[in-house]
Amino acid sequence: MKTKLEDITMPALAIRGLVIFPNVVVHFDVTRETSEAALRAAMNDNKLIFITSQRDDCFDEPDINDLYQVGVVAEIRQMLKGTDNVLRVLAEGKYRAKLIDILQYEPYLVANVREFPEIKRIGSDEIEIEAVMRAIKQAFYQYATVMPRMPKELTSSVMKETDPFKLFDVLVFNIPLAVDDKEMLLEESHIISRLGMLLAMISREVEVIDIERNIQEKVRQQLDNTQKEYYLRAQMKAIANQLGESEEDEYQEDYDEYSEKIQALDIDEESKEKLFREVDRLNKMSSASQDAFVIRNYLDNVLELPWNISTKDKTDVKKVKEVLDKDHYGLDKVKERILENIAVRELKPDIKGQIICLVGPPGVGKTSIGKSIARAMGRKYQRISLGGVRDESDIRGHRKTYVGAMPGRIINAMKLAGSKNPLILLDEIDKMTHDMRGDPSSALLEVLDSEQNSAFRDHYIEIPFDLSNVLFVTTANTTQTIDSPLLDRMDVIELTSYTREEKFHIAKEHLVPKQLKANGLKSTMLKISDDALYIIIDNYTREAGVRSLERKIASLCRKAAKIIVNGEKKSVRIGSRNIEEFLGVKKYLDDDLAKKNEIGIVNGLAWTSVGGVIMPLEASVFDGKGVIETTGSLGDVMKESAKIAVSYVRSIADKYGISGDFYKEKDIHIHAPEGATPKDGPSAGVTMTTALVSALANIPVKHDVAMTGEITLHGKVLPIGGLREKTMAAYKAGMKTVVIPVGNKSDLEEVDSVVKDNINFVYAEKITDVLDVALEKKEPRYIKPKHRDEISKRHTVSS
Ligand code: ADP
Repeated sequence: MKTKLEDITMPALAIRGLVIFPNVVVHFDVTRETSEAALRAAMNDNKLIFITSQRDDCFDEPDINDLYQVGVVAEIRQMLKGTDNVLRVLAEGKYRAKLIDILQYEPYLVANVREFPEIKRIGSDEIEIEAVMRAIKQAFYQYATVMPRMPKELTSSVMKETDPFKLFDVLVFNIPLAVDDKEMLLEESHIISRLGMLLAMISREVEVIDIERNIQEKVRQQLDNTQKEYYLRAQMKAIANQLGESEEDEYQEDYDEYSEKIQALDIDEESKEKLFREVDRLNKMSSASQDAFVIRNYLDNVLELPWNISTKDKTDVKKVKEVLDKDHYGLDKVKERILENIAVRELKPDIKGQIICLVGPPGVGKTSIGKSIARAMGRKYQRISLGGVRDESDIRGHRKTYVGAMPGRIINAMKLAGSKNPLILLDEIDKMTHDMRGDPSSALLEVLDSEQNSAFRDHYIEIPFDLSNVLFVTTANTTQTIDSPLLDRMDVIELTSYTREEKFHIAKEHLVPKQLKANGLKSTMLKISDDALYIIIDNYTREAGVRSLERKIASLCRKAAKIIVNGEKKSVRIGSRNIEEFLGVKKYLDDDLAKKNEIGIVNGLAWTSVGGVIMPLEASVFDGKGVIETTGSLGDVMKESAKIAVSYVRSIADKYGISGDFYKEKDIHIHAPEGATPKDGPSAGVTMTTALVSALANIPVKHDVAMTGEITLHGKVLPIGGLREKTMAAYKAGMKTVVIPVGNKSDLEEVDSVVKDNINFVYAEKITDVLDVALEKKEPRYIKPKHRDEISKRHTVSS
């Protein structure tokens, strides 16, 4: 079946933690069903199977990108099923092969592979070969001397070996190397380079072992000193027992157990002393007393902390990126920032990193990206919710003399994490408040300050705990309510609300698969069409993030599961036609916007916590005495904009045929519909001015134009925030033209490309630029003032 260098189709096996080389016989265990099926298929055919290693052990169902490209074709020698349901395999690596493609994933992997031959010729390289072989033998000799339990026969057979290929095989089989290193060796085709790489690896290993031994020696010396103290204490106790002052056995056990555990802690002497004093106190008390209970509780809490346990960080930027990308769509800025952070740590491990603060509206993935960062870096994860925390002791705990005292949330999270370098997500840091019981933010300041947090003191624990290895990530909806000293310590990354397209991608690529899995459904059992997803986004949810969207999808999954379990159908399809059967009548219909040009009605654009929205403004004028009235829950800034608009319109009244005395003879009413929703901000300046000029000059405003911009008294248009969200709202509402401040031109880069393709952007420097675009192009009819007011009134009633 095998013809050289042609693609061969065969069963494939993804293994973890192991790289198999040609000419080597290995044992390994298999637990995954797909792997077992692949082995059995190979066994039933010619016993050949392609075996390659997984880049990351954490995936149970790796796809082609999770596998190393170079592996071996191996022959299965034997398979044995153990009582523990583990399949034990004996196989021999035959030749190297490259993974070209995976043809099937289920019920087992079938791959197209191509032989990847070695470069055998070594004729002219003899001297070089000789040199590298000598060097490698010498390095191995050193290695064998520092490595305990290295069989003598192995060393002598290595020393005697004259064939470079055999030398490589025997070394690579006997020296424990990391999977990445082994894979690098497997991928190298030339024997000289391969031996050179192996030489570097062995030399590095020798160095590491050397350093390790030094450290161990130092630790042993330190231990000896404290050990002495420990034995003396134990003796004292024994003497006390002999003198008849003995207490119950149980005491003794307690004492010994605590002392031993304290002894083993990796903490400074002073803290150890303090703990020993507590044990002594405990020892002198009646075990049933309240105080003994408090001390025991205290010691248990202290001893449970991960004083000397830490996990190893995954620092391979490429792999971390893969995990982050797998978990979340987009969020490029956050991912980029994390990768930079990891890269810097790799270069300078002792660096004190900035604390990342993810700021954005609810449901945009702040919490879940935090969790994903922990997963990608291989760190333990804990979340602390700070919403509503108002008391310092929440962070720092109560002194243990308090009844029912406990450690604070930080120490508690460390205990739950069980390692001293977890990722701790401090959720909703902006929702923390303070009252007379102390300010939690100053305690948090100490937690987050890299100068101080290596000796963080919890009131309950009392002895300092090192938080400097913790990676803190905080989240907030806004930075406005975060105390500025805290904010100064954080590197703020803004997550903006999602556009319709982004929501669609997130739903299709992440939320639907996630919810299918959570509800026990296979992808064939429930299909939700793209149209249906857009309908959920447009008509069933109105939010900046994707929380409700996820809930709606979850609800569809549950309903589908019920239908299938009841035996009504085998699979469910949800499309635009039947979605209302599942989710009820649509909740949000398209904005009820004017479909024709009207006088005094202008489409403003606003930026709210649920993303961008069209915010129509209406202006009407009546005979009166110059009163300016604003309704529709306008905030102070908007009311000021209204006054600026009126002042400015006076300066251009002539041009639009407006009576110069309008500000004395007319009452002006400005209204924003949806009166119950509070609105504020300066960006409605241009909208108000346009509405006002339209109402006063009686010129209709184009219904397909939307606008945003702040104005000055002299009619200049100033830049605004939230352009991306606002323009997305304009696009969704079918606007053709959007007028934006010229100062925002550079922000257009951030705007979604569908929006740019469909909307004509006009840049305004002055308000007259806005009016030129927004007002209908016709000579203002001169209408006697009274008549004009009537038109405006009629219009107000209809709005
Ligand atoms: P936040 O903390 O910002 O309020 P969450 O982290 O609770 O938001 O996110 C809500 C849900 O939306 C989670 O299930 C999360 O996984 C999902 N989600 C949000 N953004 C994305 C994204 N970009 N890609 C995939 N899923 C996302």
